[in-house]
Amino acid sequence: MPRTTLVWLRNDLRLHDHEALATAAKESDRVVPVYCVDPRHYRTTRWGVEKTGALRAQFLIESLDDLRRGYRELGADLVIRRGTPEDVLPDLVRQVEADAVHVHQEVTTEEVAVEEAVEQALAETDATLHTFWGHTLYHVDDIPFDQSGIPNVYTSFRKGVEKRSAVRPTFPRPEHLAALPDDLDPGAMPTVEDLGLTPRSIDERGVLDFTGGETAGLERVQAYLWEQDLLKRYKETRNGLLGADYSSKFSAWLAHGCLSPRTIYEEVKAYEAERVKNKSTYWLVFELIWRDFFRYVGWKVGDRLFHPSGPMNKAIDWTGDDEAFRHWASGTTGFPFIDANMRELNETGFMSNRGRQNVASFLAKNLNLDWRRGAAYFEARLIDYDVTSNWGNWAYVAGVGNDPRDRYFNIVSQAKRYDPDGAYVKHWLPELRDVPDPLVHEPYAMSAMEQQMHGVTIGEDYPAPMIDLEASYERLQ
Ligand SMILES: Cc1cc2nc3c(=O)[nH]c(=O)nc-3n(C[C@H](O)[C@H](O)[C@H](O)COP(=O)(O)OP(=O)(O)OC[C@H]3O[C@@H](n4cnc5c(N)ncnc54)[C@H](O)[C@@H]3O)c2cc1C
Repeated sequence: MPRTTLVWLRNDLRLHDHEALATAAKESDRVVPVYCVDPRHYRTTRWGVEKTGALRAQFLIESLDDLRRGYRELGADLVIRRGTPEDVLPDLVRQVEADAVHVHQEVTTEEVAVEEAVEQALAETDATLHTFWGHTLYHVDDIPFDQSGIPNVYTSFRKGVEKRSAVRPTFPRPEHLAALPDDLDPGAMPTVEDLGLTPRSIDERGVLDFTGGETAGLERVQAYLWEQDLLKRYKETRNGLLGADYSSKFSAWLAHGCLSPRTIYEEVKAYEAERVKNKSTYWLVFELIWRDFFRYVGWKVGDRLFHPSGPMNKAIDWTGDDEAFRHWASGTTGFPFIDANMRELNETGFMSNRGRQNVASFLAKNLNLDWRRGAAYFEARLIDYDVTSNWGNWAYVAGVGNDPRDRYFNIVSQAKRYDPDGAYVKHWLPELRDVPDPLVHEPYAMSAMEQQMHGVTIGEDYPAPMIDLEASYERLQ
């Protein structure tokens, strides 16, 4: 009897370097790839925000659309079903008489719970669940640490893997797949409205008009490395704030699995061989190792990643109130560097790494708000939301994660350093367009006459500062 394998897709929406698919294609006569539109992903969370915002949902749909096109080109199709995987998969297994379900395993609480529920539900069928490790640069079986021994500090992790592990070669994309059974309805592609969200587009002031899918992700790699030759300067530009070119912008495709980190690694190695090998080419890989680090930390600490005391179990009395949170989230704190970044996030689903560090530090350290409110807000808004990168970085900046030094960011010094002429702040806060630098980063310091001269009234055209910033830094000393 022909062997049929379901490939259950989640954040691995690609055909290249996909072990779960490549193995199924090799070992089975027929592969049935399936994506479940899980209603739990479209609920309002306990933090009062949606779990998935419209911009990320749009990117996801584009990714599924692209993947379906890819599967059709190979001779198969992508099956799309509404419902939880634990309900959908056993039914589909029975319908196509599958023997196995392949999936890339996740490490965080909710995702692991779904895997367990699926495994239980499959026990009533003839199929078994096979998990693969598919999201990191370094494979779990190759790192020199076991789960409980994952270092708490990035440098120890990085040095360990750099010295004692090798990045595995990528899996080739299948060349051909058998057609799906004739009587199997592939299912309709959802729309943003179907998911209970209001469609919207990325503000044209954004860094990039992100389009979901493996095709667009691979094109971005081509453009960033080969066509525009930007990789050779990455280390010098990566702290930028404006435009597509200061950093790779690979994150959204990585988060949805449209790009594999190992594919990026292979491209970097080819670039080093053909063009130039320097600190910048190394640094992109260094950042991909940060991504690995947070995933492995998530694997180690389990549910603690979502506790107020974070992975390091550090009790802090978070006291900030709802109003403070509303100002932060809406970009109306009265501190331009924070407000510009939050407005960029709200309007585009993206924020630079420099911006993320500053707004997170401001929320946790200056406003003393529970960092998880910020992380949950990012989860809703970011197109590139990735569980462990997001929650791990948030805990890190909030002082309950894997930063051995527990730093805070002085947001005004940061603004003056990384946006010296105020171009970024003015891009997102046009009401400050005529305020000269460096006043643009502290508009509240302007006298009434200066305000009049520069065409802005603080408290009317632009908010007055919501807190005494200096006092909040003194509290942190
Ligand atoms: C509070 C906070 C929340 C964050 N939330 C997310 C998130 O949900 N999803 C996400 O992908 N990244 C997150 N990051 C990490 C980082 O800000 C983004 O990956 C980066 O800004 C994306 O832009 P890029 O692809 O141009 O990055 P580049 O600078 O070009 O880096 C290349 C890749 O390396 C990885 N990377 C870079 N920096 C980090 C980092 N600090 N941690 C983990 N991976 C990193 C990303 O995959 C990125 O695409 C967060 C950082 C902070 C401080």
